[in-house]
Amino acid sequence: MVIQYKCPNCGDDMVFDSESGTLSCGSCGRQDTIENFPDQHITTTFSEDEAKEYHCKNCGAVILTDADTTATTCSFCGAGVVLADRLSGILAPAKVIPFTISKEEARQAFRTWCKKGLLTPKKFMEANRIKGITGMYVPFWLYDLNSKVQVHATGTKVREYTRGDYIYTETKYYDVYRNINLDYHKVPVDASEKMNDKIMDRLEPYNYAELKDFKTPYLAGYIAEKYNYDDKELLPRVKSKVSGFVESYISSTMGGYSSVSYQSKQIDTKKKHSDYVLFPIWMFYYDYNKEEHIFAMNGQTGKIVGKPPLSYAKAAGWFSGIAGSTFITLKIISFIMGGGFW
Ligand SMILES: [Zn+2]
Ligand SMILES: [Zn+2]
Repeated sequence: MVIQYKCPNCGDDMVFDSESGTLSCGSCGRQDTIENFPDQHITTTFSEDEAKEYHCKNCGAVILTDADTTATTCSFCGAGVVLADRLSGILAPAKVIPFTISKEEARQAFRTWCKKGLLTPKKFMEANRIKGITGMYVPFWLYDLNSKVQVHATGTKVREYTRGDYIYTETKYYDVYRNINLDYHKVPVDASEKMNDKIMDRLEPYNYAELKDFKTPYLAGYIAEKYNYDDKELLPRVKSKVSGFVESYISSTMGGYSSVSYQSKQIDTKKKHSDYVLFPIWMFYYDYNKEEHIFAMNGQTGKIVGKPPLSYAKAAGWFSGIAGSTFITLKIISFIMGGGFW
C-alpha cells in the first residue's frame, strides 16, 4: 500500500517540512498540521503484488525500493511516498523524532566542517564532491533496562606514620558489600543492518522531549527504513552499551579505600521495556581518492560525525613538530583516532 499526501489547494505532493513541523506544499506554500490533515487528500494505492512492486499515484512509475525501505521518493516525478504495509503490525514504530534540520542547513554544516578540517587536503576543502544527501529515518530500539548488582570486595586503608626511628605502615582491611539497583531509561541501539554502529552511537544524544507518537506524514519526502534486527536480537548490544556505566557506578561507590580487590561481582541486566522508534539523520556520501566517505549529522540536534580523509603530507608535518617523545606521539594519535573526528 502506497500513501501520498496531496495538497488540498493545488493537488501537488506535500512533504514534511522540518522548519514548521507541518506537511507543506512546495508549489503553493500551503501548510497543514499532521493532526489536521484532511483524510480525503491522502491517496492510498494498493498494489496487486504487494511485497514486490509499488506504483506512484502521480505518474504510474514503478517505485524502486529495496526490501527495507518504508518511505522514499518517486525517482521519476519526485513525489514523496510512504509504503504503509511495511509500517504496520510488528513493523509499526511507536515513536518518531521529526527532522528539525533542513537539507540546506545540513549542506551548510558539511561545508563548514570541511573548511575547519585540520588535516584535510586543500582540494577537499572545496567540498564539491558530494555524491548524495539523504534525509533518512533510521530504525532504533529504545530500551528501558534494570541492573541488579551484588559486589563483594576487600578494601584497604593504608596509613603511614613515624614513631621514634621507625616508619610504620598500617593497613586496615574492610569487607565491602554493595547491593545496587540501577535503572536506565531510553537507551538507543540502531536496528538497521546498513548503518555503521559506531557512527550511529556517536550521533547521540537525542532530545527525547521531542519524541512524537508515530504518524506516517512525518516520513513524507524522506527516506525511511524498517528494522533488520528485533529488540531481542539487539539485547546483547544494549547490555554491552550500559556495561561501562555499571562498572563505573560500582567503582564510584568504593571511594575512600586505598585499594579494592573484588571477590565477586554479579551483574544481572534485564530489559524492562523496548520501543521501536525512528530517528532523523542526514547522510552525505562523498568521493575522495576514489573512495566513498560518509558524513552523518543528527537531524534533530545538528551534531556531526564524520571522518575527513587525512592528507598524509600534512599529517606527517604536524606530527614531526611535536613528536618529542613516544608518549606524546601516542597520545596525539589516539586523540585523532579516538576523539578527534569520529
Ligand atoms: Zn499546493
Ligand atoms: Zn511518480
